[in-house]
Amino acid sequence: MLSTRVKLTVAFVAGLIAVTITLFLALLAARNDAVYHDIAQYAAAQGDLAARVITDAAQSGQNVFVTSDTALIPALSSKVVARLQALPGYLVVVDTAGRVVYSSNDVKRLQGSDMATLRAQLADLPKSGEALIFTLDSLQEKVLFVSHSLGGNPGSLSRIASGAAATSASTIPPEYMFDALLIVPLIIGAAGVGAFLFLGRTQRQLNEITTEMAAITDGRSLHRRLALSEETTDFEDLLTTLNAMISRLETSFAGLRRFTADASHELKTPLAVLRADVERAMMESASPNERMVALEEALQEVRRMTDLVESLLTLARADEGRFDLHREPVELQPLVQEVYETAQILGEAQGVTVNLPFTADVVVMGDRTRLRQLFLNLVTNAIKYTPAGGKVELGVGRHPDNVTFAVRDTGIGISAADFPHIFERFWRADRVRSRMSERGGFGLGLAISQWIAQAHGGTLTASSRLGRGSLFTVTLPLAEGGQRS
Ligand code: ADP
Repeated sequence: MLSTRVKLTVAFVAGLIAVTITLFLALLAARNDAVYHDIAQYAAAQGDLAARVITDAAQSGQNVFVTSDTALIPALSSKVVARLQALPGYLVVVDTAGRVVYSSNDVKRLQGSDMATLRAQLADLPKSGEALIFTLDSLQEKVLFVSHSLGGNPGSLSRIASGAAATSASTIPPEYMFDALLIVPLIIGAAGVGAFLFLGRTQRQLNEITTEMAAITDGRSLHRRLALSEETTDFEDLLTTLNAMISRLETSFAGLRRFTADASHELKTPLAVLRADVERAMMESASPNERMVALEEALQEVRRMTDLVESLLTLARADEGRFDLHREPVELQPLVQEVYETAQILGEAQGVTVNLPFTADVVVMGDRTRLRQLFLNLVTNAIKYTPAGGKVELGVGRHPDNVTFAVRDTGIGISAADFPHIFERFWRADRVRSRMSERGGFGLGLAISQWIAQAHGGTLTASSRLGRGSLFTVTLPLAEGGQRS
């Protein structure tokens, strides 16, 4: 397996080579175009000169043609031929019948096959403007021809084709070859080495971060943070993000540890009581009645532990996002009425008056059992934390977009210092802990209640004054068309 460093360097060098080759070919094409253009201009100038020789001769009254009886093809006069021969390069003069009436020495020197090629190509030569480029095989030479029209004057002459060697335009000039074969590979090689070294530095920096990260996340060093050193300055953003992640991990690990410790602690007490009860029931000296009492107490502890384990399971599922909510339209009035009736029984036992002064006929989308659990949690808390003679009031309110369920009590209230913690798991006001001893709750009720409200797209809020009482309010979204008037 190649290392990322080698792979990246190879990719970089390959890219560089591709760009260089493309650039080189584009430059060559541009240069060739320019050279062809120059050659075409040169050939055109030769054609112009030849045309002037012929028209000058005709205008000065000289004989352009020598007419001979035996000649099948008319020949140019020796004077005109002599002047045309002074012009260098390939030159061919054609008459209106397409016959060649003059060929320059360069043309005459061509061998049979090249002559045939030339004739065939000249037949296709554009009348003016564009140049025609073709290869003369036996000479291994590329030639460029342009046509010059004589406009049917003088005599029967039609046009002149003038050409020049163009091989130089399509071969790579030596100075280009020097660049292409020596300098460019040197530059690319140097760039490749540079990239390799740079990537090595980057890799070292990343290795340093990885080692440090591994040391921090071994579980015992989450208090440590990645430091920004000279080696790692390029990765400031990465370090900041990783440090933020370590902070979050630290917080959630601390929470998890606290949660586990609290849960074990909460289970320890009922287990100890259970053990003592069972031991008491098993004592040989115990009477049947004493055994019965001990077993009843044991059963109560088992119920208590079942409650705790159920609460823990609910919270664990909520944390995992596995909301086992069975949503359906729920009419709040009968549900609250039911809760109210239970609360009255509980209140009576505690000497607390429970009232339901107002309620509204509304429907919410929700899980009936969970909503009942939420309302009961709040109501039992209110009764539990209200001394005898106090009052608890329930109410359902209807608003344009939502519905509220509120529980107000005239109980012991919550101090400003305690208030921010009431929704934390296992949290109980110390005062309450000692006062209620182990008969009190586990401090999970409000955490579960808040989860139920939020899982329904709602909220659970509270306000309280120490010694005056508390108000807990659940706000739930209305079901579509759930508001009855
Ligand atoms: P618990 O099972 O202990 O009642 P909760 O999560 O329901 O646990 O409540 C957490 C703590 O919040 C309680 O221990 C108590 O200190 C405080 N609390 C909750 N409801 C009330 C209330 N109505 N009046 C005063 N304190 C309350």
